Amino acid sequence: MPAAKRIGQDDLRNHNMSVVLSTIARSRTPMSRAALAKSIGLTKATMSLLTDILLKNGVLRELEPVSESTYGRPATPLAFSSGRWAGVGMQINTDGVGYTVLDVNGDVVCGDWHERTMVNVNPDAAFAELDDMMRPVERDLAERGYRVAGAQLALPGLVTNGNRLLVARNFGWHDLDLNRYPVFARLGAKVDNEATLAAIAQIPGYASQCADRDWPIGPLDSFVYVSTDIGIGGAYVREGQIVRGDHGFAGEIGHLCVDMHGSRCRCGRHGCLETIAGRRALTVAAGLAEDDGAVAGTELLPDLYAAWRGGDTKAALAVENALAALAAALASTVNMIDMENIVLGGLWNGFGDGLLADLERRVQSQILARDAMRVRLMFPPVTGHPAMRGAAVMGLRRLFDDPMRFMTAE
Ligand SMILES: [Zn+2]
Repeated sequence: MPAAKRIGQDDLRNHNMSVVLSTIARSRTPMSRAALAKSIGLTKATMSLLTDILLKNGVLRELEPVSESTYGRPATPLAFSSGRWAGVGMQINTDGVGYTVLDVNGDVVCGDWHERTMVNVNPDAAFAELDDMMRPVERDLAERGYRVAGAQLALPGLVTNGNRLLVARNFGWHDLDLNRYPVFARLGAKVDNEATLAAIAQIPGYASQCADRDWPIGPLDSFVYVSTDIGIGGAYVREGQIVRGDHGFAGEIGHLCVDMHGSRCRCGRHGCLETIAGRRALTVAAGLAEDDGAVAGTELLPDLYAAWRGGDTKAALAVENALAALAAALASTVNMIDMENIVLGGLWNGFGDGLLADLERRVQSQILARDAMRVRLMFPPVTGHPAMRGAAVMGLRRLFDDPMRFMTAE
């Protein structure tokens, strides 16, 4: 049937264009049409058609022609344009509210972060603040000629596909339909778990130009990401793609039990990893705080690092217990899912490389396959509010996943 055939061709074009965008984003050097065609396995004619559409719609631009060899015509490398396509990342976290806007060429267009304690906050008030923050940004982007491909919000909790928050225990939020907040309707925003988005921020070329610097993780690598804030979140990435599980809840490493007789976790079980190695647990065990209110913000972290470096007994014991618990949980994770790269995000950066090497040795010595594989622990390349950056990347990802939907000039 002709109609069915036409749909098939449109789907094929959309798919091919998506592959072209991903290939350009993952490449550390600009590629010509011929190089792209060869790499992807498309004809030069198809590649010309696809790249023409992307050029006309301001997604790509042509760079100065270069001679690829002494024979033949010089090739024109293609790169992402700037100033036209952006992704918006927003975050409400225990330590503040903010946003970042990412250009498809990898530049940060603008951003802001309001540092504040967000524990037990009213959701309507939090979303009103986010709304006030975003309105002028949306106007400014429109005036500058940007088109927002998508927007994503990072929350520290369990979320579902339909923008429903099941629970965010640190906020005291349960079963919220986020679609009722105007910012979601205006931006067509989606919500995602903060650890998942922080992991996405570490995948180079996921939906914006791969950075030129040395990156410990490649675009198609696999890794476990551990996000440590008041609680501990996690995500895992297999060959460059997030593994979400059947319902989108995979990766909750903070609720791996490391002590059957340990203290009660906010999830209701006993001895979860985050009851020993989360920020709340660490600062209380180190004697720096006594209650939840005092550990809500991140202001105690410098004191924790200083006490640990200074050899304070309580701090040393708290960190030692946390390291032992983390090593046990990470070794169990490696045994379960067989991955050698572990990216340790959040507050652990502040303890430095020595602690990281110590933890790596502990995990290595505990894994079943210790004679056959070597685990590699690393701090993430993206640190400051990685979930917010990952949210902006996910916004841009909509352009990558379904590009023809956005193309107005053909
Ligand atoms: Zn728990």
